[in-house]
Amino acid sequence: MTTVHEPTTPTTAAGLSVWPASTTEPVRGDLAVGGVPLAEIAERFGTPVYVLDESEVRGRCRTYRDAFPDAEVLYAAKAFLCRAMVHWTAEEGLGLDVCSAGELELAVTSGFPPDRIVLHGNAKSPHDLDTALRLGVGRIVIDSPSEIARLAAAVGPDGRQKVMVRVVPGISAGGHKNIRTGTDDQKFGLSIADGYAQHAIARILDQPQLELTGLHCHLGSQITSVKPYLAAVRRMVGLMTRLHEQHGLVLPELDLGGGHGIAYRPGEQALDVMALARKVRTELADACATAGLPVPRLIIEPGRAIVGPAGIALYRVLTVKHTGDHVFVAVDGGMSDNPRPALYGAGYAPRLIGRRSTVDRARVTVVGRHCEAGDVLATDAELPADVRSGDLLAVPVAGAYHLSMASGYNLVGRPPVAAVRDGFARLLVRRESLTDIRNRDVGL
Ligand SMILES: *Cc1c(COP(=O)(O)O)cnc(C)c1O
Repeated sequence: MTTVHEPTTPTTAAGLSVWPASTTEPVRGDLAVGGVPLAEIAERFGTPVYVLDESEVRGRCRTYRDAFPDAEVLYAAKAFLCRAMVHWTAEEGLGLDVCSAGELELAVTSGFPPDRIVLHGNAKSPHDLDTALRLGVGRIVIDSPSEIARLAAAVGPDGRQKVMVRVVPGISAGGHKNIRTGTDDQKFGLSIADGYAQHAIARILDQPQLELTGLHCHLGSQITSVKPYLAAVRRMVGLMTRLHEQHGLVLPELDLGGGHGIAYRPGEQALDVMALARKVRTELADACATAGLPVPRLIIEPGRAIVGPAGIALYRVLTVKHTGDHVFVAVDGGMSDNPRPALYGAGYAPRLIGRRSTVDRARVTVVGRHCEAGDVLATDAELPADVRSGDLLAVPVAGAYHLSMASGYNLVGRPPVAAVRDGFARLLVRRESLTDIRNRDVGL
């Protein structure tokens, strides 16, 4: 075992940099979020459990509204969605970006105004499109040529639907190759380079049922630099200029997608949202002035950056195993509630909570309980060397792409979500039970 000669000292601000702003250490070795001790949440709701700090979510929505006062900010629902989240984003003045009939219908039936919703998807099913038209979704983002005639027919001769076109600007950005979507040769969007985007736009303009409001691009996810967004602005305004020359078209909107990166571990870099806002605004104004085009209304679609840092996953340690040089700390969750390490090699910094340890820290691998060797939650985690079965571990930055990507593997049931605010915890989503699983199992 590698021992890190740093005893567990009182937590510094730097040590809590990736935790919600409300995080405190009321008793040494314990942490409270939203005024509620995490150990208490683990006791009350069981483990594994996701904790969501409502004020942190709302605060992040406000940060975006303040940074982009003239833009439309859409929360990307695929990062995390439940009815409470729908209410919070609506109340904070954000719109919603959805990519399925399920996300769309949950939002609208929870009271979200459909005209503030945008539907995406590289392969929308007939059910997705029918639901979008039935519920009156604000805009549909066209992602392939075949969608144009299909959508126009579904709208019908007397209807009219606002649409955007997803363009591939040919820019490589993002934290891992599986989440880079701004380059050619991946499944999303229509390329400028090969002319597919221009061709699709000409066809949309021929459909009286479709009203093209703007271009859309989404470069990828977990992008921590402003530069790719500025490059995207230039490419998109370049295309808008050509469309203006060819068709006399002036598009009122420009959607730059999401992908804003966050820090998962102390010391990691996050995208500076204020700098992004300032520089994108300037770049867009300059590019439009040069082209002689009016400045379109900007749309952005952050998902991870709204909800990721507001969530924490709590686990209980089941076993600690010493194998050669390695220490494996196995918890009662894993790849079924957080597939990100297995999918992208994502790194996390778990922390012991609920008791104080004064021994040196050791480097360990935190693994899950699932039947895969790749079921790892954190390699190179630093935990007190006396970590043992029954301990509680808290993993910060677990609000995005955890529950929304959770699976039914090994029939352990997906964890509940508890919200904290002003010293109170309440259940938002209950734990998936064997009864839930059995109820779907209808054949013999
Ligand atoms: C996933 C996605 C987003 C949100 O991405 P984040 O990395 O969570 O900000 C926004 N727009 C589109 C089209 C997406 O596919």
